[in-house]
Amino acid sequence: MVPPFELLTTIRSLRSGARRALALAIGLLAAAPVGADRPPIPVVATIEPLGMLVRELGGERVAVTVLVPPGASPHTFEPQPSDLTRLGDAQLLVEVGGHFDAWIARLRQAASNRTPVLTILTLPGLEPLPAETAPPDARPAAPASATDPHVWLDPLCVRDVIAPALSARLADLDEPARAFYAAHLASFRSRLTELDHEIRAQLAGPRRSYVAFHPAWRYFGARYELDEIGVVERWAGEGPTPRELASLVTAAEKARIPAILIEPQLDPRVARTLAREFGATVVLVDPNGDPADPERTRYLDLMRWNARAFARALGGSEP
Ligand SMILES: [Zn+2]
Repeated sequence: MVPPFELLTTIRSLRSGARRALALAIGLLAAAPVGADRPPIPVVATIEPLGMLVRELGGERVAVTVLVPPGASPHTFEPQPSDLTRLGDAQLLVEVGGHFDAWIARLRQAASNRTPVLTILTLPGLEPLPAETAPPDARPAAPASATDPHVWLDPLCVRDVIAPALSARLADLDEPARAFYAAHLASFRSRLTELDHEIRAQLAGPRRSYVAFHPAWRYFGARYELDEIGVVERWAGEGPTPRELASLVTAAEKARIPAILIEPQLDPRVARTLAREFGATVVLVDPNGDPADPERTRYLDLMRWNARAFARALGGSEP
């Protein structure tokens, strides 16, 4: 949208006949503001971060519903058949894909649901990392082999792959507003570039090693050259074995880790006990965001919040 003062300047610089025609055109535009021509497009996302991205790119032209509720871990989320009804008349379902939110595919299949789907992990240009490989005796929920789903935690992957794909899909559903989506995408991408620079500066210290609660930060770590030296839970929601705990303590002591990362969606008690074991603290990070906290409601704010937490968890200088 051209700012009003620029329009005014343009009008003043035109000769009077053209001026009247332009003023009339602007009047018509003002009478039909963006979005007034039809109700917002209903879009459903499996998890909050994908919902955030759709809101960022679609603004008032979309109405987003997120299936996994705030505070729940997508890994341990157990959907009910009623979650399928929440798809309602959605024109698009956005899912991560792979094993991560496969529950929605199962629900849809059972009900022959035909909502069109955008699957993030299969987008062209995305370079998925392998997930933890489950041992043969793991519970059935742990996949034998899989892709690491936490790709939204790399801001440059969001900028270069995820946001352009989401924006293009929304524009296909809302043809008359192509320019609107193009403008929102361009603005969001440039803010993601700024975010990337900020995070780089924030995490520029000499310390690179961290202990995660669950392996959510490998894309983030690959982008910002951080080393995950261990995790408390190899699969979110599955407590570590005594042997895993012992080797984690050894690794964390060796690397002089000052803090263990914990997450709002997963029980932090083991991490707290573990941190006490080698004189470390715990620091809260959040891969999913929380609509109830203004600092974690929008994607860019959430990632800034996480970068600050990482900076604290890594510690300021070498011991
Ligand atoms: Zn996760």
